[in-house]
Amino acid sequence: MSTASRKRQSLLAMVSIGLTLVAFILFVLATFVSQVASYSTYIMFVGLAMLILSWGIYFLGGRTMKPAQNQKENVMTVIGCKNCDYREERQFASGDYVTKELGPCKKCSGSSYIRAIYEVETKKE
Ligand SMILES: [Zn+2]
Repeated sequence: MSTASRKRQSLLAMVSIGLTLVAFILFVLATFVSQVASYSTYIMFVGLAMLILSWGIYFLGGRTMKPAQNQKENVMTVIGCKNCDYREERQFASGDYVTKELGPCKKCSGSSYIRAIYEVETKKE
């Protein structure tokens, strides 16, 4: 999970930098190239939109990175069933979230789902 989000993070950063560069090139073109002077307003507008988009991507990318750093080994996922009292706990796996459907229940083959996710301080034997 952390490796994947780091990959995603660097991809977002690259997209962000790319958009900023394109925006900069568009601004330069609109300002200095006389052939496109009649379109300069549109080019400026597109450039500005790209610049805003790149900032948005960078901001969102930075925000989604933080929860991944809190991910620890001693996080447990509680699995429950909608039809019976089946309950199971296992190590948190990447992609787990509360209310996620997990397919048929082991006890009654009803639909099982993630009831809760919690962090434990010490292991209970
Ligand atoms: Zn069940």
